[in-house]
Amino acid sequence: MVITEIFKSIQGESSYVGLPCTFIRLTGCNLRCHWCDTAYAFYGGQRMSNEEVLARVRELGCKLIEITGGEPLLQPDVIPLAAQLVAENYRVLIETSGERFVGNLPREVVKIMDVKCPGSGESDKFCFENLAALERKDEIKFVIADETDYRYAVEFIAKHRLHETVDEILISPVFGQMSARLLAECILRDGLKVRMGMQIHKFIWEPDARSR
Ligand code: SF4
Repeated sequence: MVITEIFKSIQGESSYVGLPCTFIRLTGCNLRCHWCDTAYAFYGGQRMSNEEVLARVRELGCKLIEITGGEPLLQPDVIPLAAQLVAENYRVLIETSGERFVGNLPREVVKIMDVKCPGSGESDKFCFENLAALERKDEIKFVIADETDYRYAVEFIAKHRLHETVDEILISPVFGQMSARLLAECILRDGLKVRMGMQIHKFIWEPDARSR
């Protein structure tokens, strides 16, 4: 597979926020979200076998692993890699755009799946079969660029009854673009049952360009 980087950091998002975590960032993405913060992972990368990836993960010594990108599900080898990590008793998270089908991953993998809002420019790419493939331990994430995105998320959650699908629905403001305060006020005003996230890795590591 083609890998942009493997590194250890503090998990900045999801219900696993704050925990030490090894990140495996796969190269390449077929979407182009306007606010993407990992465009450096679109191209380049280094070819590594699954065994080489596993060896590096073992070296870093962290039991929580996140497979991310780019879009990790574009590379078929990610399925056996995830299965090997599960077999070695790692807690495995995968961050995916929601455009690729997640149902072929091992059940034990926690799927953290985006639903892209209009502000991303990619909201028409969602794979609706994914909603039936998720389990309660999985997490659905909306990244909010403006109030139009917020209303889109509210309607999507209600229309597809997402609270019956997963325990965790995540909502984050686009870093440096959407007011966190405004988003918090909207959530509280509407009594929305979601977890608001702030991408704490960016607060920790800025101005590192890769915001580890
Ligand atoms: S899906 Fe993720 S990696 Fe791809 S363009 Fe969107 S934010 Fe960037």
